[in-house]
Amino acid sequence: MLKINLPYIFAICLWISFISCQGNIKKESPSKVKNTAFAIVIHGGAGTIKKENMSDAQETVYRDKLQEALDVGFDILNQGGSAEKAVQKTINILEDSPLFNAGKGAVFNSAGQQEMDASIMDGNTLNAGAVAGVKHIKNPINAAILVKDSTRHVLLSGKGAEDFAKLHGLKMEDTTYFYTEKRFQSLLKAQGKEQALLEKNIKNIELIDNHQYGTVGCVAMDKNGNIVAGTSTGGMTNKKYGRIGDSPIIGAGTYANNQTCGVSATGTGEFFMRTLAAHQVSNLMQFKNLGLKEALAQVIHTDIDTLGGTGGLIALDKYGNVAWDFNTEGMYRGYRNANGKNIIEIYKIKHP
Ligand code: ASP
Repeated sequence: MLKINLPYIFAICLWISFISCQGNIKKESPSKVKNTAFAIVIHGGAGTIKKENMSDAQETVYRDKLQEALDVGFDILNQGGSAEKAVQKTINILEDSPLFNAGKGAVFNSAGQQEMDASIMDGNTLNAGAVAGVKHIKNPINAAILVKDSTRHVLLSGKGAEDFAKLHGLKMEDTTYFYTEKRFQSLLKAQGKEQALLEKNIKNIELIDNHQYGTVGCVAMDKNGNIVAGTSTGGMTNKKYGRIGDSPIIGAGTYANNQTCGVSATGTGEFFMRTLAAHQVSNLMQFKNLGLKEALAQVIHTDIDTLGGTGGLIALDKYGNVAWDFNTEGMYRGYRNANGKNIIEIYKIKHP
């Protein structure tokens, strides 16, 4: 006859409940818990953006477009979508708008052409992709993502980048699609100023500030705590043909690392390249223990300022805190987060 061994059964029950408890603990462990602190921050360029130069109607048009872009990205994050999808779709809205210096409405180079740059970086894998000097890709940020996902390279340029994008079925456009009269007039004005200086025998034509605001950038953190940053631009008005700025350079115009932060830059690109501005923000957080705001302030108001550069940065850290900074009159910018914050700003600095 089977003898019931009570202490033995009790021990087995205890062991089973211990194991299932371990399972629960594992499920609840912080790395598996969904991060609710998702957030998205955007910029539409920095420069001499002054209230007195803008009518209320114009301002509303800019604000509405920034809000539309922000909402598209926010909704993706809110529904559990990835930070990359949010960054891509948000930037697509701004690239498709002639208001900004990216995609349609990109600025013209000295040869009267529109050459666009874009980049994206994934803070989880540190994988990145970029394109430079492209003239026909409707949404250069999509091509940057394609380079990241479908090649072993980080940056493709010019015709090679365009052939690659076409081969993979990205939407291509004729140069007339990107043309806007406003940007073309800016080129003529910049070239007029340059000519006047040359006639006066002033050689240092680099002194002319042809910085046209309108570059677009976005940084997002999704519900998994993954940070992605992206930037897209036409560069600077009257730039030399073939010139590549900071926007497609990982570490200069764009950087993301889940251990620290994600950053997108705008401004006179050469200075952001020389200071490796976006990566420097991350470094200051990692190695000098600076907070996000302090790191941005150091890069903009010390590193960039010292060299004579102008522009701004947007960023968010691994906790979903958002920050921005700039040393220009204004920067088109905005952010939304899981706590219901929804801010659009254009002029003087107001920290989030
Ligand atoms: N940083 C861009 C470039 O130098 C321009 C800008 O952000 O306005 O190409």
